[in-house]
Amino acid sequence: MTYDNNNIFAKILRGEVPCKEVYRDDHVLAFNDINPLAPTHILVIPTGKYVSIDDFGKNASPAEIKAFYAAIDKIVEDKGLKTKGFRCIANTGPNGGQEVPHFHMHILGGCPIGPMVSTAL
Ligand code: AMP
Repeated sequence: MTYDNNNIFAKILRGEVPCKEVYRDDHVLAFNDINPLAPTHILVIPTGKYVSIDDFGKNASPAEIKAFYAAIDKIVEDKGLKTKGFRCIANTGPNGGQEVPHFHMHILGGCPIGPMVSTAL
């Protein structure tokens, strides 16, 4: 999949669309999800142009990958999610329910998040 420069997270990164910023460094931006599904629902995105988790893992630099997971660690620590736990979700592609084609990790916490998946199986 080629990267779409007009996706909503690209616009947030360029400052064309506002967000409720939680964390930022050279490689990472994190902000509150506009439609929260838990008391804490934060999206963590690389500043680089990666469409999906597999694109990111294959093509991002070690520094970008390290910064991404370090940011998640800092956010869950700062938000007090470590003791009771949290869930990270990276929806990928049509079957994964990915709506925005810029790689993002959802962090959900602050309550029991419920069953892992809902499927027709
Ligand atoms: P996904 O279905 O994994 O692609 O998730 C996309 C997420 O982006 C959804 O949870 C949306 O609520 C969220 N979202 C869409 N637009 C915005 C926005 N402008 N600011 C914050 N979150 C957004």
